[in-house]
Order: sequence, then structure tokens, then C-alpha cells
Amino acid sequence: MRKKIIAGNWKMNKSADEARTLALALRRAIGEMKHPEVVICPPFTAMGEVAAVLKGSRLRLGAQNMHQADSGAYTGEISARMLLTIGCTEVILGHSERRSLFSETDQAVNAKAKKALAAGLTPIVCVGETLAQRESGAMEKVIEQQIHGSLDSLSEADLKRTVIAYEPVWAIGTGKVATPDQAEEVHRHIRRLLSDMHGGNAAAEVTILYGGSVKADNAAGLFEMENIDGALVGGASLVADEFAAIVKAMT
Ligand code: PEP
Repeated sequence: MRKKIIAGNWKMNKSADEARTLALALRRAIGEMKHPEVVICPPFTAMGEVAAVLKGSRLRLGAQNMHQADSGAYTGEISARMLLTIGCTEVILGHSERRSLFSETDQAVNAKAKKALAAGLTPIVCVGETLAQRESGAMEKVIEQQIHGSLDSLSEADLKRTVIAYEPVWAIGTGKVATPDQAEEVHRHIRRLLSDMHGGNAAAEVTILYGGSVKADNAAGLFEMENIDGALVGGASLVADEFAAIVKAMT
């Protein structure tokens, strides 16, 4: 049985006080639900506040990025150990905004994923094509390059501990969600690529999330698909009732 996960990516939103209020509302709304696993990824400055609110609940704390080095002269960066010591268990890596706005390469995502795994964090590795790439018929190739590059030379054991998020760039923050069939086609493609890397049994264990304009009213259709194991949610994770309804759609 694959892990089912709903992760909320708050991006650069919420001051520490506002984050505390939202985390409390989420704990109230979904703290008692048994399934799926839920991960909240606030900005770094609010992680301490959110960790305190989530303590003792089954909601977990995630980060939106990290650096691959252990420590040192990397102004503005955060290490895996810093995340672990604040109670973080997951880290989003290679989000399309990091790739496009901050020039993050597959190679950098790969180095970060390896460091996260070695440190005991679960990497949530994001891949996804732009609209131009989809329309030119390059989607499969783009996903293949990102999967091969971002997960290069991971052991079978490490692959099984990795979560993939398929996030078509054209669906992120646009309100244009992929249809369940469109998303399922790419998830199946990703699982085939993982199977080529470490065999069908390993690939069958990897949780693959869909991300891109997931809302309460479209989540259930996506979750019915065989290879969609949850969601990475941006905008809708900032509204407690909406996020709770998405979590509920998976129970
Ligand atoms: C995201 O940024 O990971 C995301 C999926 O955003 P949204 O849900 O707002 O499209």
C-alpha cells in the first residue's frame, strides 16, 4: 500500500502570527482525521510557530526548500539539519517556481534530494512541463529528463523514501487544473520511468502527488485515479476549510 499524502505549500505567505492562526484552524479541522498523511509547509520564518501548534497532532511539518551543504558561507540558505532540529520531516525540492525564478537545475535538485535523504528528511521532488512544452509534444521527454536528472543515482531504498509531485506549470496558480485523465497519464509515465530505474516493485511503492490548482471541488476526481496518491496544494492550502475539504476528499 502506497502512502497517501496531502501537502500544503504556503509559499511566501503568512507572517508568524498569521501562520499560527492558520495552523490552529487546520489542526482543529483535520487533526482527528485518520487518513491521508498531511504535511504543512509554511515559510521558514513561521516554521517554529507552526511546529509548536502541530506538536502532538498527526499533522507534519515540511519545508519549501533547503540547501545541499551541511553549513557554511551560504547567505540566505537553510540546511537539512536546521530543518530537522525544528521538527521538519519533509522538504519540497525543485518546485517549478524555484526552477524558473531561481534557476534551480535538475543537478541541484538531485544534490538536495540526496542530502535530504541522508539526513532523514523525505524529499518531495517536483517535476512538470510548461504549456509550450506540452503543446509541442515534448511533455514525456521533459518529464523523463527531470526525473532522471533529479533522481540520478538514488539507491532503490532511497527512491522508495522519495515522494514525487507532478505539477504541470500551466496548472500552478492558474485555476486550470489538469483533468484526472491528463494527470493519470503523466503519473503512469512517471511510474514507468521509476520502474526502469529500480524495477516495478520499487516503483509501485513511490507516492506520486498531483499539484496544480487542486481545490475542494476537483480533488475527488483526481484521487479516484489509480496512480494519483495525493496532492501538493498551493493557494487552497491557505484557507483552512478548503484545505480540510481536500483532505476529506481522500479519506
Ligand atoms: C504549488 O505551488 O505547488 C501549487 C500546486 O499551487 P496551486 O495549488 O495554487 O496551483
